[in-house]
Amino acid sequence: MSDSRDWAAIRGDFPLLSRQVHGKPLVYLDSANTSQKPRSVIETVDEFYRLHNANVSRAVHQLGSEATDAYENSRRKLAALINVQADDLVLCSGTTFAINLVAYSWALPRLNPGDVILASRMEHHANLVPWQIVAGLRGAEMRAVEITPEGEVDRDALTRQLASGKVKLLALTHVSNVLGTVNPVREICREARKHGVVTVIDGSQALPHRAVDVAAIGCDFYAFTGHKMCGPTGTGGLWARRECWREMPPFLGGGEMIREVRFEGTVFNDPPHKFEAGTPNIAGFVGLGAAVDYLQALGMDAIEQREQALLAHAHSVLGAIPGLRIFGTASEKAAVVSFLVEGAHAHDLATLLDLEGIAVRSGHHCAHPLMQFYGVAATCRASFAFWNTFEEIDFFARSIEKVRKLLA
Ligand code: PMP
Repeated sequence: MSDSRDWAAIRGDFPLLSRQVHGKPLVYLDSANTSQKPRSVIETVDEFYRLHNANVSRAVHQLGSEATDAYENSRRKLAALINVQADDLVLCSGTTFAINLVAYSWALPRLNPGDVILASRMEHHANLVPWQIVAGLRGAEMRAVEITPEGEVDRDALTRQLASGKVKLLALTHVSNVLGTVNPVREICREARKHGVVTVIDGSQALPHRAVDVAAIGCDFYAFTGHKMCGPTGTGGLWARRECWREMPPFLGGGEMIREVRFEGTVFNDPPHKFEAGTPNIAGFVGLGAAVDYLQALGMDAIEQREQALLAHAHSVLGAIPGLRIFGTASEKAAVVSFLVEGAHAHDLATLLDLEGIAVRSGHHCAHPLMQFYGVAATCRASFAFWNTFEEIDFFARSIEKVRKLLA
């Protein structure tokens, strides 16, 4: 398929990208950390506060119903984006909240001593630490699903683990934030289901980069975060199978999640509202709805195709730099490249690149167990979005060469 989109014009949709850093044009290679926002999202949030601001589901006045309609409309847009029913999609502050919700509301009441929770070695701490906490409270055990040196899940080992009869839940990322690995979540969820193992998929790094069909994946829970997919910070969601929602007690109590409250007891609202206590990030979700419109107008397949071309270029130019090691060479990858340059500390590299106007992340990327696997304390990570250019990647590679010589 030829790429007929005008990516230079699309880049112009992002006001922040035209600013300078240290007197140099900004080269933003940190989209996996948080994405920049297109003008339509910024203007939608601005317009909400100027014209429609009110609390949701509480007031009968005109503004209240406009705000509620806008908020619920975003829920429907998000649900359509991932091919699920809107009533099964709980809106929350992001993946961290979403996974804690599953941990406390689904797992905590069900875990027994001796039960096993599996999480892959490449998980973000958000899909690891909540499980450790609830496992610790219930005397259950956490075990790692190991990976290959290329950064793919070791499927044979996983098959053995799933068949052990002890595993209650598998926590797995759809796309690794460090390695870029795209996990075969559909196949793995099918296998887990055969053994009665519940699956929690972290979609934080998948939704921004590709079409995601949660119904086709066949997981039990799917979590995502809005700020990595062109939406405002403090937005995200959790989809769960309806049977799971029905069986789960509320995570947080408060306004909006109830039908009737008496001192003798409370009748809770139906999902998704049962899990949305308190005033949500209304303007943020209205903005996230605009982000979904923006991504869909571009087309998720076109975004994926563009980013794959950028990734292939990045691999080829970075691979030619002497002493540069790339972490994560899975056969299916999203546009993320983690690397180290011999003799240079990741933070020094990132600091000197910043002086060139290049924003990359350095550190452990909230993935300590993965750093331990590779025997490093930190890496540098460049993550790309569809609006990045091939010229930026060439400049990035030249800047690494320059910095490498400075640090040598
Ligand atoms: N999982 C993955 C794979 C991530 O990349 C991130 C964000 N770095 C998170 C979870 C946590 O997302 P949030 O901070 O938005 O809750």
